[in-house]
Amino acid sequence: MKAAVLHAPREPMTIENIAIDKPKRREVLIRTAAAGLCHSDLHFIEGSYPTPVPIVLGHESAGIVEAVGEDVTYLKPGDHVISCLSMFCGHCEFCLSGHLSICQDPWSRCAKTCR
Ligand SMILES: [Zn+2]
Ligand SMILES: [Zn+2]
Repeated sequence: MKAAVLHAPREPMTIENIAIDKPKRREVLIRTAAAGLCHSDLHFIEGSYPTPVPIVLGHESAGIVEAVGEDVTYLKPGDHVISCLSMFCGHCEFCLSGHLSICQDPWSRCAKTCR
């Protein structure tokens, strides 16, 4: 697949063909239809948030699930999804009223190992 790759802060990204591994236990592989670069990504580009490189930015995207790791139970191949770093439960009063950013139990979908 093609991706914009950042090799060093403050350097232009390059469009490259990259390979992606199969998803590990708690990972999801998404065929990305669209992705944006947000202000968080700009911090990586400018070097104010140090990150290992090379890296493909654009954590806010939309696409279709292609494969899931063995511990993923809430998604399946073919599901249409959006991605975001914010965590939310999806069933508290705030989530159900569209206020995911103030979810009462954002860790509820995580295994105990990631808390
Ligand atoms: Zn973001
Ligand atoms: Zn919630």
